Amino acid sequence: MAHVSRGDTVVVTKGRERGKQGKIKRVLTAKGRVEIENVMMVKKHVKASQKDPQGGIKDIEGTVNISNVSLWCGTCSKAVRSKKVVDDAGKKSRACVKCDTTFPNPGM
Ligand SMILES: [Zn+2]
Repeated sequence: MAHVSRGDTVVVTKGRERGKQGKIKRVLTAKGRVEIENVMMVKKHVKASQKDPQGGIKDIEGTVNISNVSLWCGTCSKAVRSKKVVDDAGKKSRACVKCDTTFPNPGM
């Protein structure tokens, strides 16, 4: 599994969108890329279709290389690495290596 998953709040660490934060909408495992809310917006020309009778130019999210994003820790206010933790009930989760804040489990 990749170091980030759908639903994670991440920050872009490299490239044009460096420093931007957002929630992962989609992980394209085969391509090694992720789609993040409001990051890497691109214009897409959409032809009018039944689904979309208007067509036109839309702003959509492009993808970012998965190795260029890091998990964002709101407590530390920075990009961090996560570690695996197991609670008393045996439930696995991920926590910030710096401040031990647990991250919500991926929405898969
Ligand atoms: Zn932290």
